[in-house]
Amino acid sequence: MSIFDLTLEDLENILVLNGFKKFNATQVYEGIYKKRVKSFDDITNISKELKKFLNDNYTLKYLNIVEELKSNDTNKYLLEVTDSFVECVLMKHDYGNSLCISTQIGCNMNCAFCESGKLKKVRNLTVSEIVLQVLTIEEKENLRISNIVFMGIGEPFDNYDNIINAIKILTCPRGINLGSRKITVSTCGLVPKIKEFADLEGQVNLAISLHASNNETRNKLMPINHAYPIEEVIKAIDYYIEKTNRKVTIEYILLEGINDSTKNALELANLFKGKLVYINLIPYNSTSSNFVRSSKETISKFFDTLVKNGINVQMRREMGKDIKGACGQLRASHEQK
Ligand code: SAH
Repeated sequence: MSIFDLTLEDLENILVLNGFKKFNATQVYEGIYKKRVKSFDDITNISKELKKFLNDNYTLKYLNIVEELKSNDTNKYLLEVTDSFVECVLMKHDYGNSLCISTQIGCNMNCAFCESGKLKKVRNLTVSEIVLQVLTIEEKENLRISNIVFMGIGEPFDNYDNIINAIKILTCPRGINLGSRKITVSTCGLVPKIKEFADLEGQVNLAISLHASNNETRNKLMPINHAYPIEEVIKAIDYYIEKTNRKVTIEYILLEGINDSTKNALELANLFKGKLVYINLIPYNSTSSNFVRSSKETISKFFDTLVKNGINVQMRREMGKDIKGACGQLRASHEQK
C-alpha cells in the first residue's frame, strides 16, 4: 500500500501497534512530505527496524505523467494510476500556483454540459491518488502549490471519506501544511454531504455548481437536481454558512438561450439576496455537447443585473481554453488514441 494513503493519525496508530513510538510517525511524515525522500532509507533520524518495517509494508512511488499540454499560464497533465488515467490542471496566478485535481475515474452525475460524465464512474480515487497529484506536479515543475481546487474529474462528495482524509494530509502541519482556506471543494449539490462537511466546522472553502436559476432548467442540465432540488441545496448552503461563517461560491456557467436571460438573473438574485455567497459566472468551455457559450454582451448584462440586485458577483478568468481545459477533455482525447 502507498504510504500516502495514511493520515498522520493512521500512521501513529499503525506504528504504535507494531511496537514503534508515536513520535516516529512525525519523523516519517516530515521525511516524506517536507524532505520529499524517495526511499525510506533516506529518512536519517529513524531506526533500521523502522526502515525495514516501512520498506516491507509501504511504497513511496509518485504517479507517472503520461501526457502534458502547456500554454503560457496553464498546464494540463494526464497521470497514470494502476488501471486508468487521471487529469489535473496547474494554473499559474499572480498570487501563486493553483492545482485543479480529480477525485474519481469517470463521474456518475451526468451533467449535460460536462465532458467528464461521458465516462461513467469506474471507481473512486484513493487517498494517495488524490494527494499524489499534488506531490507529482510539485516535483515535476519544481514549485510549490499554494491553492488546491477539487474541480477536476469526479464528484468529490461522492468520494467523501477519501477527500476528507486527503484534505487532512494536505493540511497536516507536520507534512505539506497547506492552509485550509487555500483549498476549495466543488460539488454539484449532494445535500447530505454538504451538511456533513459543514459539521466538520473547518475552513475549507465550498463551491456549489448551480448553473440554473430554477428547477425546471436545472433538472435538464443536472440530473442530480431531481434528488436534491434548488431549495434543498440552498438550505444546505445556509446550514454551512451558519456552521462555518465562510462565504460560499456559487458557480454558474452561462449557456446561450438556456440560463442566461435577464429573468434568470433576477431569479438567481432572488435566491441569494442577503446571503453570504458570491456568484462566479463561468464562460462555457465548449465540448462535444451542443451548448453554446453566451455572448460577451449577454454575460455583461447578466452580471449587471446581479450587481444591481445587490449580489456579489465575479467573472471567472478563462484559462487553458486552448489546451482542452474543460473537465475530462484531455482524458477523453487520450482514450481515443
Ligand atoms: N463535480 C464537481 C466538481 C467537478 S466540475 C462539481 O460539479 O462541482 C468543476 C466545475 O466545472 C463545475 O462547476 C462544473 O459544472 C464545471 N464545468 C464542467 N464542464 C464545464 C464546461 N464545459 N465549461 C465550463 N465549466 C464546466
